[in-house]
Amino acid sequence: MTAPPPRTPRTPRAVYRYGTWTLAPDREPDAEPVTYAMQCAVCEEKSDPQEDLAAAQTWTFRHAGRHPSHHTYREVITRPWRAWMA
Ligand SMILES: [Zn+2]
Repeated sequence: MTAPPPRTPRTPRAVYRYGTWTLAPDREPDAEPVTYAMQCAVCEEKSDPQEDLAAAQTWTFRHAGRHPSHHTYREVITRPWRAWMA
């Protein structure tokens, strides 16, 4: 039986000349928010980044209404990460 996939992104570690660095998603209270944007794959136009995915998806419906032949989109997620020396 295989293990289920991890629920959170892995924490990569790397050893460089001056020490071991760890990289992980930034979940501190003062971290930048995770934001979502939608981008049209036909014309590359993109919504403003939103903290609410539904708001970004609403942009898609408006865009499709103005450009009825634009049917394919990309979800662009911006997630803050932190790097520190362990
Ligand atoms: Zn478009």
